[in-house]
Amino acid sequence: MQSVQEKMLREMHDKKLFDLAHNHTYSYLNNAFERNIFPSEDALQGLKRFDEALPHDTVDAAEVIDQLHEVGAPATVAKLGGRYFGFVIGSALPVGLAAKHMATYWDQIGALHVTSPINAKLESVVESWLKQLLGLPENAVAGYVTGTSAATFCGLAAARFKLLQMAGWDVNEKGLNNAPKIRIVTGKHSHSTVLKAIAMLGFGKSNIEFVDVDEEGRVIAEKMPPLDNRTILILQAGNVNSGSFDPFEEICIKAKAAGAWVHIDGAFGLWAAAVEKLKYLTKGIEHADSWSVDGHKTLNTPYDCGIVLCADKEAIVSALHMTGSYIIQSKERDGMYYTPDMSQRARAIELWACLRYLGKKGVDDMIYTMHQRAVQFAEELKKIKGFRIVNDVVFNQVLVQCETNEITDKTLAKVQELRVCWAGGAEWFGKRVIRVSICSWATTETDITQSVHSFAQALSLVTN
Ligand SMILES: *Cc1c(COP(=O)(O)O)cnc(C)c1O
Repeated sequence: MQSVQEKMLREMHDKKLFDLAHNHTYSYLNNAFERNIFPSEDALQGLKRFDEALPHDTVDAAEVIDQLHEVGAPATVAKLGGRYFGFVIGSALPVGLAAKHMATYWDQIGALHVTSPINAKLESVVESWLKQLLGLPENAVAGYVTGTSAATFCGLAAARFKLLQMAGWDVNEKGLNNAPKIRIVTGKHSHSTVLKAIAMLGFGKSNIEFVDVDEEGRVIAEKMPPLDNRTILILQAGNVNSGSFDPFEEICIKAKAAGAWVHIDGAFGLWAAAVEKLKYLTKGIEHADSWSVDGHKTLNTPYDCGIVLCADKEAIVSALHMTGSYIIQSKERDGMYYTPDMSQRARAIELWACLRYLGKKGVDDMIYTMHQRAVQFAEELKKIKGFRIVNDVVFNQVLVQCETNEITDKTLAKVQELRVCWAGGAEWFGKRVIRVSICSWATTETDITQSVHSFAQALSLVTN
């Protein structure tokens, strides 16, 4: 009898398993752009094949990989292509997929320099490129995390540490019980992950001072409460529905003068700063103290790639620091001090690959094209009777309404059923909307026209 170890040594050695996986991957990619945007009913039913008891015996590895390909792949969402407009979900650049693929085989841990010198190096390089692209202060440091949810948590943890330290209180040692009160101020349209971070950090959601927003969801500067040096203010670059941007310059300068900490949630919108014709939207972001942004949305890195940037290195490292006698710190970069995790994926590798590939001009070009496609979508849809666009399409988001809430919802359900494209729904000032997010490098003019046709077909199926 061959032991499991012997079996795996053979698999590692003859690599047939890897060939099999590669072949399946290529066949997936061959129709990644043509497949149903959402799995068919058959594919969804097929998932029942996974309802099996945990096998007793080790099987042939090829059997596992085949099962994933045959039953798993058809039940994937076709986010790589150009007609997935749900949530704000980017595609992935080919070079990012290829780099991640290599990095998968390297199987690196990005915790410390000694666990992966290559990842540590690329973290430093990307940190400096990002500051340049986004126009952030020279002294800012970057932490590489799972997504903007985690990045916002880190930024606010740094804020909490710093403001309490200034008040003579070490929150790491003493916690929040009896601590000086920290105020939290944010717009009424703040993303739910911001509220989650506030809850996780112990501030309490009911203590938030919400600021009124205008018809695009932007914080109204005149409605800001007075700020002070015990206040964390959270602004937004890219409203998750309308794509709008808060008026940073005016608010940040006042907030800084008052000694408040400003964090900007720029999950997808911070990238406007890297686009010549769109950077007016992010004017003033450089005055903030911390920023959260995703690689995996607008930049189209593969998934699981968020970034926190913080202008106060001591604050973020103090907030997220951990020690242990076995930890080997180096003079080089040790990524884990900027994140909540210890063991972590070496995610700087594909982030570096995407930036190295696109360059400044490529980033600008790709993101501006997304904006143009969003404008195209709005223009084409507007011409169809029964649809109206309810937001100002300043970036990549388009909000669509039909004549009544009921028709909007039914049309959306029909669009999803037709599977030509995929969009989600939301409430916008008390009314139902269809949200269209153009967030893929792969979206062509034809994709937009085809999708608009599908919207028109859906509406006529619902109303006739
Ligand atoms: C997507 C999004 C988030 C959350 O980001 P994740 O990467 O999904 O964790 C936060 N804020 C805004 C505005 C977003 O669009």
